[in-house]
Amino acid sequence: KIVENTDILIIGAGPSGSVAAAYLQKMGSTAIVVEKTKFPRIVVGESLLPRSMDHFEEAGLLDNLMQKGFEKKLGARFIRGNEICIFDFSKKFGKGWDWTWQVPRADFDLALTEDLQAKGVDLRFETEVIDVVFTNGKSVTTIQDKNGNQSQIQAKFIIDCSGYGRVLPRLLALDTPSQLSPHSAIFTHIHDVNRPAGQEGIQISFDIIEREVWLWVIPFSNGNTSVGIVAPTTYIEQLSTNDSLQEKLTNAINASDFYKKRFGGLPFIFEPKHLKNYSKAVHKMYGDGFVLTGNSAEFLDPVFSSGVCFATESGLLAAKLAYKQLQGENVNWEQDYAAHMEKGIKVFTTYVKEWYTGNLQTLFFHQPEDPDVKAKICAVLAGYVWNDDNPFVKKHDNLIKNMAHFINMSKE
Ligand code: FAD
Repeated sequence: KIVENTDILIIGAGPSGSVAAAYLQKMGSTAIVVEKTKFPRIVVGESLLPRSMDHFEEAGLLDNLMQKGFEKKLGARFIRGNEICIFDFSKKFGKGWDWTWQVPRADFDLALTEDLQAKGVDLRFETEVIDVVFTNGKSVTTIQDKNGNQSQIQAKFIIDCSGYGRVLPRLLALDTPSQLSPHSAIFTHIHDVNRPAGQEGIQISFDIIEREVWLWVIPFSNGNTSVGIVAPTTYIEQLSTNDSLQEKLTNAINASDFYKKRFGGLPFIFEPKHLKNYSKAVHKMYGDGFVLTGNSAEFLDPVFSSGVCFATESGLLAAKLAYKQLQGENVNWEQDYAAHMEKGIKVFTTYVKEWYTGNLQTLFFHQPEDPDVKAKICAVLAGYVWNDDNPFVKKHDNLIKNMAHFINMSKE
């Protein structure tokens, strides 16, 4: 078997792996990236958060992305019957980017990896990690190419960015049940032939059908729109009398008063994808010689589009710390990595939970709006969940609940 040596092995070339690889290349470190599929490939996660722009910028990936003409995302709209709540990132509390993109991930991830290749990153598509053995923190990874040829890579450190491939959580039994109740999603892309002119046509929106059931509408600059339904797994199962994903998604679209005219009856570009019980968690995010990032470490819920932001935040931080460690410096992975990531996860977990209890929806749709409260929640929805100057970050565990309670009391 051919044995190669590298300082760092990155598993997976999604946003997390791409940001990590770009940073390490910039620092002159030796890294190999292995990616199981051939890009472009379809993957979910199309609504980005402004916080990720910081990561793309620092990794040196932003200039190339800027030239691709992706649809700008300036905020997000939540709809509940006749009630509308629009968040405008330019009105958020605190510092940070006030826009990002809404992207077909096939094109977006391809753009990221083309830039990596242009920068000289050793990136191998159609190469799958099938086994990893650790000895005293050093690892030997068995990879397999599309023709079934196997070889080995010895790495001083592994950054696992394998998303739902969850390579190291599987091999090292690191999985733990998610704290969130089981939810599932079905989505596809649609040629948006009825797209209205102006802002309405490109407005990214979340339409609440029932308290725990919502439809996403993410228009792209290529004229297509991503449409997806998210709900408790039991609801998704009952959406049609048979197992047809086409029928389930069609029924979900028809349940949206706001969108059934625009999308009802239009053909789907690809067979809808089913993401069943999508929330994932691990009991340990790092170990001797490795770290987990992005979806390989944790995925909460799509409702606030935090997935890619978490992937790039963790990918960049993991790369920085791994680089530091290989330079001979001491790294406290618990404090510098796990505690940082868990802090952000905790804030978003509260928001996700309070979304499904209805408390956050009470705040979103309360009239008259309080611009100060809105600006602070908006900063969270932009991904700035590490800013303790924001009370909606710092006191996340009771502020939403208390405010919703107060609003409900005042209505009685
Ligand atoms: P990925 O983007 O999944 O990349 C992982 C890569 O690793 C893949 O290319 C895969 O082929 C590769 N890989 C896997 N196994 C192996 C292996 N054995 N060897 C080599 N390579 C391997 N996030 C948002 O930000 N916005 C959203 O609107 C959003 N909507 C979502 C909706 C749903 C229903 C779900 C379930 C998730 C959504 N997400 C969203 C989350 C988002 O999809 C992920 O958080 C994000 O893609 C994670 O990025 P990543 O780089 O960790 O993993």
